Amino acid sequence: MVSIEPTWIAEDGERVASDEAAPVQAPPKPKPDPAPPARTPAPNMEPPPNPAALGACHNHAVDFIVRGVLPVPEGRELFGWIRELRDRFYREINQAPVMPLHYCYQHDEERRQSKTGNWGHILPKQGDDQEDAYCVENREGWRVFDASQR
Ligand SMILES: [Zn+2]
Repeated sequence: MVSIEPTWIAEDGERVASDEAAPVQAPPKPKPDPAPPARTPAPNMEPPPNPAALGACHNHAVDFIVRGVLPVPEGRELFGWIRELRDRFYREINQAPVMPLHYCYQHDEERRQSKTGNWGHILPKQGDDQEDAYCVENREGWRVFDASQR
């Protein structure tokens, strides 16, 4: 058998059991000692590296050092420098997303095609620039003032 408790409507419209005061929440118990670090990787961690790609990046790192393109900086030891270059090649180049065609890597911006067919993106105003200036593909290094880039 189901017993129905008499209820009354509180001033704020909330139905409350008549013989029961508003429930008072017990203070939360102090947490036990923090759990040991989880063995599973956190969701924001990067996936395990691709061994073949990592090996290629290692080879490129050594190659750049040997050829003198990226020599060991003063005060750094060789292995740490190789590892830094390997990891940076891997993360910043090998695993970097492929950008759309006509992308401007210099300014890290996507270019759009103008009515004249040129691909460009707007450049921040400089000193006495009155008009909008554009960075146009194949004319890098120029501040192109061209309304058709709009
Ligand atoms: Zn640019």
